[in-house]
Amino acid sequence: MQDGPEPDARSFCIRKELLDNATTLFRGTTEPRIIFRTKVVKTDPVVFDMFINWLNHSEDPVPYLPCHYSQEPWRSRAVDVWLFAKRICAPSLERYALSQVVRNCAMQDSSAFACIEREAKAKSALRRFSNHWVAWNCYLAPEGQSEYVDLAAAKLASVVNSETNDPRIFEIEHWYSPCGDDINSSCIHDPVVRENAVNELFASRRPRPEWGLKWEAENKASREKQNPVPSTLKAKNSSAAIKLNPPPPLPPRKTQPILSSKLK
Ligand SMILES: [Zn+2]
Repeated sequence: MQDGPEPDARSFCIRKELLDNATTLFRGTTEPRIIFRTKVVKTDPVVFDMFINWLNHSEDPVPYLPCHYSQEPWRSRAVDVWLFAKRICAPSLERYALSQVVRNCAMQDSSAFACIEREAKAKSALRRFSNHWVAWNCYLAPEGQSEYVDLAAAKLASVVNSETNDPRIFEIEHWYSPCGDDINSSCIHDPVVRENAVNELFASRRPRPEWGLKWEAENKASREKQNPVPSTLKAKNSSAAIKLNPPPPLPPRKTQPILSSKLK
């Protein structure tokens, strides 16, 4: 694999299935040597090295941990890798790079978000996260003092309120969903909303009735609760109950005609 068509392009040896799993760009190609176009790589050797390293290790997205930042080059180059992943149609690398953007966004200056506004399409995952982050920071900063004040997303600060979440807490799928456009979303991608929903689900599940002695005992208790037995009936002698609750009297019976006399 070469990182460009130029004579001085660098070569890397990568298993074809690793590349095919990561990107659809070269699927079906039987050429033994794969050459990336200059337009795709944009002559950025660091980003290409990060791509090769990720291919070899196939890491999952990193979680957001407050005050934890990645080592370089991920700390400062995650936005460039996300844009590269988009160009080479590599969705897993895209998600991984976005998780690195989320983790390290507090260490970036406004130029990284200006780059996102220039390069990432509206409603793309990176743009959604960037919009929320910029708007939230503009809201928190004293008026007009945010370093992001000149960015387009600064206007979105008007919809932020005291209930608006830190965008870093959302699951990565939030940014790939329409709810990622809503800065005040209370969707299932918010870990607190998700935990509450799971708790409610478990609370609403009634245990299945058990048959046998336990079921009988529980139902007897339930019946007695609905129709309490008068205290006078709680006597040990059960004959007391019979005396106090005599059966209703039967209606008087008519004298039956004698069949033989009727025939006469
Ligand atoms: Zn969501």
